[in-house]
Amino acid sequence: MSDRTLSQSRRNSALRPNRNNNIFLNTDLENQLKAFREKAADAMPGSDWTPFEKNRSLPPERADIVIVGGGVVGWSIAYWLKQKEMIRDGVRVLVVERDPTYSQASTVLSAGGIRQQFSLLENIHLSMASADFMRNINEHLSVLNDDPVDLQFNHSGYLFLASEKVAHIMEENYSTQRYAGAKVALLSPTQLKEKCPWINTDGVVLASYGLENEGWFDPWMLLNAFRRKAISMGVYQCFGEVTGFKYTTNTMTTAEGDKVDFRRIKYANVQMPNSLEYQPVECAIVVNAAGAFSGKVAEMMGIGLGLKDTIAGIPLPVEPRKRFIYVVHCPNGPGLDTPFLVDYSGVYFRREGLGGNYIAGMSPEEEEEPETNNLEVDHQFFQKIWPHLAHRVPAFECLKVTSAWAGFYDYNTFDQNGIVGMHPLVNNMFFATGFSGHGLQHSPAVGRAMAELILDGGFKTLDLSAFSFKRIMTKEPMLERNIV
Ligand SMILES: Cc1cc2nc3c(=O)[nH]c(=O)nc-3n(C[C@H](O)[C@H](O)[C@H](O)COP(=O)(O)OP(=O)(O)OC[C@H]3O[C@@H](n4cnc5c(N)ncnc54)[C@H](O)[C@@H]3O)c2cc1C
Repeated sequence: MSDRTLSQSRRNSALRPNRNNNIFLNTDLENQLKAFREKAADAMPGSDWTPFEKNRSLPPERADIVIVGGGVVGWSIAYWLKQKEMIRDGVRVLVVERDPTYSQASTVLSAGGIRQQFSLLENIHLSMASADFMRNINEHLSVLNDDPVDLQFNHSGYLFLASEKVAHIMEENYSTQRYAGAKVALLSPTQLKEKCPWINTDGVVLASYGLENEGWFDPWMLLNAFRRKAISMGVYQCFGEVTGFKYTTNTMTTAEGDKVDFRRIKYANVQMPNSLEYQPVECAIVVNAAGAFSGKVAEMMGIGLGLKDTIAGIPLPVEPRKRFIYVVHCPNGPGLDTPFLVDYSGVYFRREGLGGNYIAGMSPEEEEEPETNNLEVDHQFFQKIWPHLAHRVPAFECLKVTSAWAGFYDYNTFDQNGIVGMHPLVNNMFFATGFSGHGLQHSPAVGRAMAELILDGGFKTLDLSAFSFKRIMTKEPMLERNIV
């Protein structure tokens, strides 16, 4: 090969991925651009014109930790990583978010609720820690010279209603909640009627009401507070889509002679909006916090694409599931004292603002799950909810649906609980996903736990090892009985 063809070939290799070792070599190109910029600056002293100026929205070339997904979970992790770093700017963290408008993010389309009333100790602890964080939010997330954070928190407890069939479960959950230190009260139908005179207690044999650490708040405020603080602490933000990874593979042979591939991500490819090209970001760790789409991000590393009945063949079981929320106006409704009520039929509602508005919803049956290729609302679905609403609160016989929206649950099809921790075959991909309807409220505590796992090598404050990917491999679901 002549010198000319050799240098031509090197230049070309700088522009495309090297398929043999999966590493994108862009150093040549960067050096050439740098030299060109310096030459242009010499030629025009005093001018601030720079040819091929780096696009400010481009991601940095290197980051220690790339977080895929800038929802509340991603930004919480970013904040906690900076909070825990030992040396200022010791850890370079990049959050990559593909949708600057957040039009499809579960966080902003959620109902904004937080409750301690779960059946699993881990979930109760996560809620209590997150509630504590939110109570002191300005100690954590205030930024010098900026307005204080106001989550618009409504301190109204969740009120769960149980029928004869499920009352024993409510009692068991109550014991676990009390054991965890949560303040919850059980109410008889008479006590329930005293507390909520507007309620029809037919069919209710027991109710449980959260006395503290429960209510609802503005999810966008929480997301933005994490983001604003994290950026003030030096986290990089980039609006682009992670479309793939470059990785190295180490193949090992088991005692039985089976080959197992261990992968290590070297680069995350970030595609910028309106561009066909991607920018590779060299990184040491990737956190998959892509919410409902984290299963797809895992697939980019081959997770779930291996042979059936092998670990590589087990997918990250997280997929989008569409849920509808209807806003109703009912001037004669329960009013200011409305809790976040969850009926045993599965229907829930809470007050929305102060003008006689409420939001209501219900998860569909498995066989009637709506399609997930859009966020259109099925207005007919309200007809399934309304009879339950009107049965429980007679005033809801007369209401008007004023608007509605749909959002995706980051639905864990295995056991509807979070998946937190590393993947066994991709040594440097961490998951924080699959929260299936309770990820918003757990995000403060999950972010802290993830930062501990990454920076300290293990959970310190809350042990979330039960949420690891291992339970999916061993087929041991961790079922939460209080899923809304
Ligand atoms: C209708 C509804 C009601 C809910 N109610 C509650 C509630 O009351 N309480 C509660 O705690 N939880 C609730 N949830 C669940 C909660 O919203 C989620 O669990 C939580 O918001 C998940 O946060 P996240 O950051 O993981 O996901 P998201 O907010 O969805 O953020 C993930 C982000 O990743 C981005 N992304 C995806 N793929 C890529 C990629 N390849 N590259 C770059 N970016 C990517 C997406 O654009 C998205 O912005 C509700 C959800 C819905 C839909």
